[in-house]
Parts: sequence; structure tokens; C-alpha cells
Amino acid sequence: MWYFSTNKKSPKVNFKEATILGQAPDKGLYFPETIPIFPKTIMDNIENYSDEEIAFEVIKPYVGDTIPADVLRIFVAETINFSIPLVPVNANIFSLELYHGPTLAFKDIGARFMSRCLSYFVKNDHKKVTVLVATSGDTGGAVANGFYDVPNVEVIILYPSGKVSTVQEKQLTTLGKNIHALEVQGTFDDCQQMVKDAFADEELCKKIFLTSANSINVARWLPQQFYYFFAYKQWKNKMNLPVIAVPSGNFGNICAGLLAQASGLPVAHFIAACNANDVIPHFFDNNEYIPKKAVATISNAMDVGNPSNFIRILEIFSGNINRLKEKLSAVSITDDQTKATIKKVYEEENYLLDPHAAVSYAALKNYLAVHALQTGILIETAHPVKFYDVVEPVIGAKVSIPLHLQSQLTLEKKSILMENSFTALKEYLLR
Ligand SMILES: *Cc1c(COP(=O)(O)O)cnc(C)c1O
Repeated sequence: MWYFSTNKKSPKVNFKEATILGQAPDKGLYFPETIPIFPKTIMDNIENYSDEEIAFEVIKPYVGDTIPADVLRIFVAETINFSIPLVPVNANIFSLELYHGPTLAFKDIGARFMSRCLSYFVKNDHKKVTVLVATSGDTGGAVANGFYDVPNVEVIILYPSGKVSTVQEKQLTTLGKNIHALEVQGTFDDCQQMVKDAFADEELCKKIFLTSANSINVARWLPQQFYYFFAYKQWKNKMNLPVIAVPSGNFGNICAGLLAQASGLPVAHFIAACNANDVIPHFFDNNEYIPKKAVATISNAMDVGNPSNFIRILEIFSGNINRLKEKLSAVSITDDQTKATIKKVYEEENYLLDPHAAVSYAALKNYLAVHALQTGILIETAHPVKFYDVVEPVIGAKVSIPLHLQSQLTLEKKSILMENSFTALKEYLLR
């Protein structure tokens, strides 16, 4: 499999090179030259296949011959060694719980797969690599955990000071060893800009070997297809396909879902559920793409003002906006609606949503209200306890913290405070 850059000004690369580089030299995102078709024989009998087999079949054509099959099978098995259940919330809505991994967020899946691939590639090349990553919340924890103590890899995480939850901050600042946290006095977009500037700086890139672990990296983006297949495997009424609502920020998750669909996964419709950061809903309504400064919301992992992966979504549909709109809608949900949804679903359905999934629940509910014969899946991207600061006052009850998190919460935060400036980052990297 070859990957081209969405800016079309860089040479094509294979999976190994795309994983190591992260972003293409022309600052485009890597995209597969062809979208493989998932074997129909497996799809038609998907209940009879193990999750490992399904995931292996999904990822195999993308990896090509860059990782031997037996090694890839191990990476896949290690990536998904926790449960991913589809849980009924009510008669029409099911929740795909992606939060049973080590950092209680869906990003564990991409981060665990990527760390294994990257470590495999650099080990064979006897290289040392620095992973530079900007996080609006959950990426940092998942990447820190996925790469913790991996040989030959240093991880530097930039996060916006005061804009991540207590649990999130602990997850990215308490590990130590090869994991370093930079607390930036700015927004997530500022962090992302600093990372982008670093990749564009020739002097820096000559001195240290930099790569990214954001969802722009193909090794993080592509394995996110796995759980859409697992959802379909667990979906009982295959005559009535699900509408899937995905809480979206940088649009990597939903882009993986759309890619899975393009490979043959049966899905009725996708909904990109956004918070007040409504660049894509605005694009759908007005056909104009206007990047904005991110605004802070209670679903902070989605506070993105210029979603990187949207370009890949356009690529899946070859730029055909009308065809795209048949498969995808996008809506914006306010913080007040999000809180009301958490409360109502908790009280009436006895199901606790985190603020991100609450955005997708609200979006799905609105969609089903005008598509009465359809049923849906909301993607639950994080455990509600990660956002207990938001959730507890809304429901008026305590959310209990899983044991392994309790011990992490007592550890001391270790971060380096940094002004919002690329110069400061560069100085730090060349220290
Ligand atoms: C990262 C994240 C999102 C947004 O995912 P994208 O792939 O960036 O659209 C949603 N919910 C949670 C909990 C997240 O951590």
C-alpha cells in the first residue's frame, strides 16, 4: 500500500515511512492510494470471527509488507486486549463503550497500535525518535501510556494550561521516564501550531528526529476502524443498519468510521457531533470552511477550531460534497444541551454519559426524531469519571474512580510551564 500526501507535493511512501514521518514534508496528511475492500465472506459471517481476526483483516492491507503477519497479529491483539461492548441505553440507542482501556478513552486503541509499530520500525533501524504531540485532553494520556518506557522513543506532550481535566492532567504528567509534559499558556490550537512549526523547522529537524502521535499519524488513525467493525458484529438487526453518532473534534475518529464504510462496512449514516466548535457544521450548512479559534467547552477533547482530519474525509469522497452529505451530517450542541442530556439520560435511562458522548447522544436523538424508523449507536469515547468535575454537579452524585486511577491521582504532577511560543519550544527541544 502506498500513501500520498493530501497536498500532492511529496513523494508517495509506504506504511513504515508514513508512520515514522507522521506528516508529509509538504505538510499534507498521508492518505492510502486505494481503499481496500474488506472480505465479503468475513463481513457476511462477522459474528463467527474473533475481534483479533477482524482487526487483523482490516489493518493488513494498510500495513502491507512493512510488518510481518505474525508480528502484526501480536500488535493487533495487544491493542485490543480489553472489552469494547455495545450496550443498550434504550430501545433505539446503543452505546459503543470505548473506554475500557488503560486511560479510559478511545485514544488508547490508536496510541497502543502506533507505539508498537513505531517502536518496531525504529528498533530495526537503530534510530532514536522524539514523538511530539499536542493534546486537548485525552491524546496526552493515551500516548503517554502507550509509549511509556518504550526504548528509543522520547515523548513530549504539549497541553493547554488549565484546559484539561484533573484526571487527564494526572495521566500525562505523572509517568516520568521517557514521557515529558509541557504545560503551555495558551489553547489547544496554540499547542498544535507549535507542534506544526516544529515540524516545519529545518534546523530542528536536522538535529533531532521528530515525529507526531496525533491522529494525523496513519498508525493512530487507521486502527480506529476496528471498533466500527466490532459494533457491527454486535449489532443484532442487520436488516436495519445503525446511524452512528461520533463526538468529533479533530475528526480522526469519524474519518476512520467513514473509511471503514468505504471498505464495505454497512452503516446507514454518520453524524459528526460537535460542541460549540462548529467549523464543520457551519461548512455543511453554508458550504464554506472557516477555521476559527477554539472555544473552551465542557467536552474539552473536542475543542478544535481547525480539524486536521477533515481533509481526509473529503479525500474519501473524492471531494464530492453531495455524496459526502448523503453519508454524513454535522451538528453543533451547546454546553447547556450537553448537561441537560447527561442529567436526563442518567435519570430516565439509568446510563451515565461523559460530556463528549452526551454531545453525540443529543445529536443522535435529534436525528432519530426526524428519522423515526432508524436506530442508532453513539460512540462513547471516554469514561465519565475522567470528567467527574463536570458530571458530578450535573447528576448530583459521585462517580466512583476505578482503582488504577485512584493511585495515579495521588502522584505528583511534573510539568514544565511554557509560554505560547515556538521559540520557547525550540529552545527546550535543543536543550
Ligand atoms: C479526542 C477525543 C474526541 C475527539 O476525537 P477526534 O478523533 O479528535 O474527532 C472525542 N471524545 C474524547 C473523549 C476524546 O478524547
